[in-house]
Amino acid sequence: MSVFSKLSDEYEEVVFFHDPPSGLRAIVAIHSTALGPALGGTRFYPFESEEDALVDALRLAKAMTYKAAAGGLDLGGGKAVIIGDPSRDKSEELLRAYGRFIESLGGRYITAEDVGTSRPDMDVLRRETRWVTGVSKRLGGSGDPSPVTAYGVFQGLRACAEEGLRTSSLEGVRIVVQGAGKVGSALVGHLVEAGAVVTVADVDVDAVARVVNQHGVETADPAKAHAVECDIFAPCAMGPAIRDDTLAELKCRVVAGAANNQLARPEHADALQEMDILYAPDFVINAGGLINVADELMGYDRDRAMTKVEAIYRTLREVFQRARLEGITPSEAAGRLAEDRIASVSRVRLLWVPGQARSRGGRD
Ligand code: NAD
Repeated sequence: MSVFSKLSDEYEEVVFFHDPPSGLRAIVAIHSTALGPALGGTRFYPFESEEDALVDALRLAKAMTYKAAAGGLDLGGGKAVIIGDPSRDKSEELLRAYGRFIESLGGRYITAEDVGTSRPDMDVLRRETRWVTGVSKRLGGSGDPSPVTAYGVFQGLRACAEEGLRTSSLEGVRIVVQGAGKVGSALVGHLVEAGAVVTVADVDVDAVARVVNQHGVETADPAKAHAVECDIFAPCAMGPAIRDDTLAELKCRVVAGAANNQLARPEHADALQEMDILYAPDFVINAGGLINVADELMGYDRDRAMTKVEAIYRTLREVFQRARLEGITPSEAAGRLAEDRIASVSRVRLLWVPGQARSRGGRD
């Protein structure tokens, strides 16, 4: 496998950590520190090959750069993977070895939980490194990000309703929430409170029952949630909701939700545009969790985090406006917005200030 060819001219740094006694094999990919230290979670997963692990780390690290930039954060993008089966291979020894390696990067990379890692794991890492977020509240952590993510999605849906439905209120707006998990169920609460007409769908009948009991909403067959006639289809489950097989069956005017990677392929953004369906880029609307966890770096203040999350409404308005003016999809507009912010802030950081090194990325 050729590592450097995979980095193109985009990635700043890729570090391989190896601690044979604990079995640790980890890769940290830093895509960009132009806006600040690279923050992104650690995925603990039994990758089929080292190449798969590297490719995943690179892909996810780049996505974090865009998410942080569009979220208005002074953070860059990075991601780490640990190769192994977390249920079998995770141990205190391995996590602490990993924590020491993270510490050795001096804060260029800050980690958080992801698939296969949890808050207790972050607490173990904290014993070896300062550069970890998502720790327990007693250690200064911000707690479960899901309610904050849901609040951000709710703010984003207001912008979507204005742009795609020409209404400033969600009252009476028909919204299908696919996935009634931690984020989906909290989102339903906000939507019901705002007077929306909500339908939920989940493969887990208990999750559906909990939301129905609490909010008295309608339900739909999870296999056909995307095909329910509605104003807004809100993917809040796992995996891409917009695929070749679901696209043609959509009967909504807006697709906007919390799920990561909602589009199976980037071309689906064009397809939605052609169908006159407004799409809220997932990395913009679901940034609440990242914004929340990033606040830990300043000493967590929930009110401050929530205020920043509210800005998702404004950011999405800006994305939609740019898409309209430049004749591009909202996904492209969001990408350009993030790239413009990276370029302009990087330039400003090169201005000379007495007593400070000129720096790309606040590393002085
Ligand atoms: P979760 O595991 O709590 O909930 C996911 C729910 O989706 C579960 O109830 C599951 O049964 C359901 N589900 C799975 N497949 C389904 C299907 N085919 N149809 C209908 N329901 C299905 O996860 P979560 O934390 O609520 O996250 C939801 C999504 O939001 C994920 O894509 C996640 O990556 C993304 N996200 C979450 C956060 C956060 O703060 N938790 C932040 C950003 C993005």
